[in-house]
Amino acid sequence: MAKHNSKTKPAKNITAPGISVSAGIVMGKALFVGRDLGAPEESELSAAEARKEVKRFEKALRQSREQLEGLRQQVAEVIGEHDARIFDAHLLIMDDDKLTREVKENIIQQKRNAEYIFQKIFERYTQALSKVDDPYIRDRIADIRDVANRIIKNLRGEPADDIRNLDHPRIIVAHDLAPSDTVSMTKEQVLGFVTRIGSRTSHAAIMARALQLPAVVGLGDSFQQIHNGDMLILDALRGTVIIDPDEKTIKRYKQRIKDQEKWFTMLESELALPTETKDGFRVQLAANIELPEEVDEIRSSFGVGIGLFRSEYLFINQPEAPSEEEQFQVYRQLAEKIYPQSVIIRTLDIGGDKFLSSQFSNEINPFLGMRGIRLSLSNPSAFKVQLRAILRASAFGKVRIMFPMISTLEEVKEALRYLQEARQELDAQGIDYHRYMDIGIMIEVPAAALLADKLAPYVDFFSLGTNDLIQYSLAVDRANPQIAYLYQPTHPSLIQLLENVVHVAYEHGKWVSICGEMASDSTLVPLILGLGIHELSMSSVSLPLVKRLIRRIRMYDAENLVREARQCGTSREVQTLCDQFIQNFVPDMFESNDND
Ligand code: PEP
Ligand code: MG
Repeated sequence: MAKHNSKTKPAKNITAPGISVSAGIVMGKALFVGRDLGAPEESELSAAEARKEVKRFEKALRQSREQLEGLRQQVAEVIGEHDARIFDAHLLIMDDDKLTREVKENIIQQKRNAEYIFQKIFERYTQALSKVDDPYIRDRIADIRDVANRIIKNLRGEPADDIRNLDHPRIIVAHDLAPSDTVSMTKEQVLGFVTRIGSRTSHAAIMARALQLPAVVGLGDSFQQIHNGDMLILDALRGTVIIDPDEKTIKRYKQRIKDQEKWFTMLESELALPTETKDGFRVQLAANIELPEEVDEIRSSFGVGIGLFRSEYLFINQPEAPSEEEQFQVYRQLAEKIYPQSVIIRTLDIGGDKFLSSQFSNEINPFLGMRGIRLSLSNPSAFKVQLRAILRASAFGKVRIMFPMISTLEEVKEALRYLQEARQELDAQGIDYHRYMDIGIMIEVPAAALLADKLAPYVDFFSLGTNDLIQYSLAVDRANPQIAYLYQPTHPSLIQLLENVVHVAYEHGKWVSICGEMASDSTLVPLILGLGIHELSMSSVSLPLVKRLIRRIRMYDAENLVREARQCGTSREVQTLCDQFIQNFVPDMFESNDND
């Protein structure tokens, strides 16, 4: 055994679990990006100096505005107009006359420097906002901090953007990342990122996926173990960050990173091959997307359809809802670009942890409140705008529509009634649409899973939204890290719910797919297939691994796995069976095929 050098500190090798929001594995040094401004320096001024200070403050405001406008333009050109609109929220904050007037008055009255006054006032604003228990407002605080940070950096004469000035690539570590940070990241400078807070649906997560940077968010308290410059392994396939890994772990991960590259190469070489099990069962894979721009990559790299387009991202961060024409253009492009594959457009799923700029939720339990179809049905005119836009797009490709958060039969009937009205309106205008577009519902509330036989006659397909189905079945907030241990996809009750839905779908001759994150967990894919779910939609980054797995197992064994899982009383037992399945049938799942 090698003797340890007593001077070398042993590696901490801490594994910190988080939420993987954009898959991939990278290794590199941590770079903290803080928006903690530190204590403001205070200097006393004469009356004349205070007047000059106001001018200096105004100049910093102008500079900040120019930078934001430049950034907006750059993002619009490089990524697209939709993402660029994030900066409109920032520019709106800059237009807040009340704040800037208060700062100028206080500089004159208190005869203090601009940084000091501005920081004090802005901290007071954000403190008041942080007392509001609302995720939408928390998102806005990040935006306000981002703008304030920029103004202060301009006052101090510091460069506005650290990330863009990186000399070599690092793993960015931050309490949270504002959209303007993530948007300026490139693969040359940034390997990936890790944040203390956040969820799969936070701004940063969405942008990470769009930019294809691996990211793990929501590290919680273990975040405090990371120091600037620490070696990190960001394993966004498993959703963990390894802080200061030891030699053995580094070696293992170097191999995994190689394997990861091989997986992508392998998928490329397998693109022409069918997605089918070893005993010849065809499986349909599709991608979940949030940003319309993702469609190009899905088409060119994966050649699959879109099993879930989360249309709410067209609405979030916008000063107002997009018009029928704007929505139509986006849906039409999706339909045309993905053709001959299909796209499932889900109507607005606002509520829960996703809110509109115009919406101020004061619900105590937003996940149990005005969410998804409930909100759409409460605002029929806006709902019909979306329905008409989707119908119009159906004339340009294979478009399917899907309603989220269904819990009653009345909701299905009402949604269909509005769809019929939208059709009639288009008929009256002589506008073309596909008359037999497939209509589906998300099964993500236990009531809908149990009522599936009554819902089936009204729809063409069911899409299993296990992210919510798990949350609502087990009464576990999907975004609460404190009870994450109770969020169990292998809970035996969930298997029963899924079985019921599949059974009903088969009996009624309807098709059934799954679009929850569970479908991208390769250890659970055999269970899903064995249950009879043969259409799986997931973030595109997970497709290579899942495809690889499917091609290496037999449906016969997957069905046996389900038979055994039915006998289990705990999630752990089911998970163990799933893990054993991988060990028995695909022992080299996470390893490379060859030895180079
Ligand atoms: C789900 O609930 O599983 C789902 C796919 O929808 P979302 O994650 O958007 O709620
Ligand atoms: Mg859902």
